[in-house]
Amino acid sequence: MTHMTLGRLTLASAVCCASLGMQAQSRQPDWPKIEEETLRHYQTLIRFDTTEKERPAAEYLKKVLDDNGIPAQIYAAEPDRPNVVARLKGSGRKRPLLVMGHTDTVSVDASKWKFPPFSATRDGGYVYGRGTIDDKDNATGALMAILTLKRLAIPLDRDVIVLFESGEEGNSRVGIGHMVAEHFADIDAEYCLAEGGATTRERGKVTYAEIQTLEKIPRGIELVSHGISGHGSIPLKSNAVVHLAAAVGRIGEWRPDVKLNETSGTYFRRLATIPTATPEQAKAYRDVLSPDPTIARAADDWLLENEPRHDSMLRTSVSPNIIQGGYRSNVIPSEARATLDVRMVPDEDPAKFLELVKQIVNDPAVDVRFTGTRASERPANAQAKLDSEAFKTIEAAVTKIYGAVTLPTMSTGATDMAQLRARGVQCFGIGPAVDMEDGPKGFGAHSDQERLLESELHRFVRFNWEVVSGLAAAK
Ligand SMILES: [Zn+2]
Repeated sequence: MTHMTLGRLTLASAVCCASLGMQAQSRQPDWPKIEEETLRHYQTLIRFDTTEKERPAAEYLKKVLDDNGIPAQIYAAEPDRPNVVARLKGSGRKRPLLVMGHTDTVSVDASKWKFPPFSATRDGGYVYGRGTIDDKDNATGALMAILTLKRLAIPLDRDVIVLFESGEEGNSRVGIGHMVAEHFADIDAEYCLAEGGATTRERGKVTYAEIQTLEKIPRGIELVSHGISGHGSIPLKSNAVVHLAAAVGRIGEWRPDVKLNETSGTYFRRLATIPTATPEQAKAYRDVLSPDPTIARAADDWLLENEPRHDSMLRTSVSPNIIQGGYRSNVIPSEARATLDVRMVPDEDPAKFLELVKQIVNDPAVDVRFTGTRASERPANAQAKLDSEAFKTIEAAVTKIYGAVTLPTMSTGATDMAQLRARGVQCFGIGPAVDMEDGPKGFGAHSDQERLLESELHRFVRFNWEVVSGLAAAK
């Protein structure tokens, strides 16, 4: 442990004890007992198959909360897809804190799993199962935090609300969409914590914690080319497939302008300082922020080649992912279409961006338009503030629990936080520590062997406790 870390820890504990007063001494969580209970709830949640049917998990969570004197409410847009909300009252001196975890999971191909996907098997220090890191870990962290606050009867400056939402994986209308549209008053908060962050371990040691403070906004764009149909034996200049292919080719070559923001700028600046970054990586992270366009462009090229996720953080990204046209080899079709997966940086103007795409396509035979609304569409959202009490509390918790650097992160994918941020809630994505090589080995979220280290589950519960009690306990 470095001198600086020690200094910060001492300061953090001094602030904590002075603020909680002498009573805090008798209000320390009993960690061995909490760990035993954590594992029980976590395994129970994983054992419910909640693929597009969250009811069993929701009923279980409601019962645990009710049994512990925290009355829980069920809100369901569809009977099998309920959301659970419970609130612990504070003095109202500050606005509430919302802590979330989604109960649904993506589907499984059980034949590909070494351990049955809903068995929550413990093996070699891991717990295996669908939802172990997406998102029954966050659900368990939220549950244990509110239960512990209640049992220790910690006086609170603000209400602590838990939300276990359904439908995060592809149908947010039944989950966060429903809650925000119909029951917003029950979840309205100053701050929220949810999935979307990631804590990275390398060789058994946590190197950094990504705290999601912003996310890109998905906006699909469709290209539709029109031409004259005819016999395939007589090629036509207007061939819709040829026009579309050329348009897709131009889009594929195009790299929209770099648009950094406070989150992504801070992210790269801090990432360049982590001890495990190679000199080549550190140079790319530094150079990408350079005011010199030649230096920045070379770093951009390096990231596109070596770290495409980081390159996507630099700009609105465009990936042509579906192409359709024609139905017989001897028929020239009159129409062909392509779908572009567009992930906009939050300050992008969608209408102006669409005009840019039209300019790149540069072909009157090809229409360019947004694909329109989907069940999983996310609204525009603003960045959670880095100078907020919440971010500072999270940073202090990362230092105390993980001894690592905090990286505010803009995720390239979308989460349920988008809907809340659009309503003014400052949301922060958090996540347990996972070994860097675990994802590439096939143990990541949505893959055919999801898993989490038990020790990291417990550490994550402590991290949740630090943040939730740090933000809500009376000062
Ligand atoms: Zn998730």
